Amino acid sequence: MVSEKKDIRALSKEELRNFFVSIGDKAFRGNQVYEWLWGKGIHSFEDMTNISKGTRAHLEANFVINHIEVDSLQKSKDGTVKNAVKLHDGLIVESVLIPTEKRTTACVSSQVGCSLDCKFCATARLKRMRNLNPDEIYDQVVAIDKESRLYHDRPLSNIVFMGMGEPLMNYKNVLKAIDKITSNEGLGMSPKRITLSTSGVPKMIKKLADDEVKFNLAVSLHSAIQETREQIMPFAKSFNLEDLRESLEYWYAKTGRIITYEYVVWKGINDSKEDIDALVRFCKYAPSKVNIIEYNPIDDGEFQQASDTAIDQYIAVLERNRIPVTVRRSRGKDIDAACGQLANKH
Ligand code: SAH
Repeated sequence: MVSEKKDIRALSKEELRNFFVSIGDKAFRGNQVYEWLWGKGIHSFEDMTNISKGTRAHLEANFVINHIEVDSLQKSKDGTVKNAVKLHDGLIVESVLIPTEKRTTACVSSQVGCSLDCKFCATARLKRMRNLNPDEIYDQVVAIDKESRLYHDRPLSNIVFMGMGEPLMNYKNVLKAIDKITSNEGLGMSPKRITLSTSGVPKMIKKLADDEVKFNLAVSLHSAIQETREQIMPFAKSFNLEDLRESLEYWYAKTGRIITYEYVVWKGINDSKEDIDALVRFCKYAPSKVNIIEYNPIDDGEFQQASDTAIDQYIAVLERNRIPVTVRRSRGKDIDAACGQLANKH
C-alpha cells in the first residue's frame, strides 16, 4: 500500500534541519537524522539509536522511509549479477553488477520503463513508466556496492546510467542522486567514475554543461545519418543530429571532457561505407571515442548483428582517422542482463 505520509528522504538536509526547529528541537538533530538516512542507509526510525524515543515516535507519525528491496537476484556464468528491484509502490526496475578483472561497475536504472522508443531495445517495450526518485537511484547503487563487497571482496568502482530509462528525461532526480553518490555524506565516489548515457536530448546535454557536472557523458548514437537514425530511434525526429551535434560541441567547449559514442552495427542498417564515413565526420565535431557494442537480440530478427568484416571495417576507418575505438563484449547475456535486455521478464 502506498502510504499517505511523506517520504522523509525527499527532504533536503536543510529541510530536515528546519523541520526539527519547527518542532522546538535543535537544527543539529536534522544532521543526525540525515546521516542515518543517507550515510548509514537505515530503513527504520527504530535504528536511529542516538535519537530519543520520543523524537523517533514523532518521526514515525509524520514520515515513512521509502526504500527499495532486491526482489530477486540472478547470477550469470560470467559473474554478472542482475537485481530485480522492487520500489515502494510495487513497481520493478532492474540494475546490474558487472565485474571485470580490475573493476566492478553498477549499471543503474533512472526510469521505470522508458520514455523513448528505440526499436532495438527491450526496455522501450515496457508500458508503465514513471521517473525514479533520487533515493531509488541511490539505493540501487548502495545495493550493488554491497553485492560487490560480498561477491568480489571489493567496493564498487564505477557507475553507468545505462539501465532502464532515459536519464536526461529525469534530469533533476538523476542529478540529485549523483550528488548523494559523490558527496561525502553519501558514498563519496568520484564523479570521474560515473558515466551518464543518453539517447541524445540536446537541450539537456547543454544543461549538463551549464550545470558544470563533473561526470562523463556517453551518447547512444548508432547512426550519424539522420534518416537512418530516425528509423531505428524514432524520437530522433524531434531531437535531430544537427541539434545533437551542436549540443555536444557546447558540452566539450564547456567541460573539456571527451564524449563516448555507443554504437551497435546491424546488418543492412548501418554497415555500409557511407555509414562509417558519416560516423567519422560526426566524431570530428567534438573530441570523442567510439564504443562498439555487441547487439543483444531481443526479438524476431528484425535487427541482426553485422558481420565481423563490417565491424573490422569500422575499426580500421576510425583508427585511420585517429578516433579511439573499443569493442565491448556483452556481459550477462544468459540472464537477460546485457545492454538493451532489461525488461522485467522474470
Ligand atoms: N536511454 C539511455 C540509457 C540506456 S543505455 C541511452 O540510450 O543511452 C542502454 C544502452 O544499450 C544504449 O546505448 C542502447 O542504445 C543500448 N542498447 C539498447 N538495446 C540494445 C540491444 N538490444 N543490444 C545492444 N545494445 C542495446
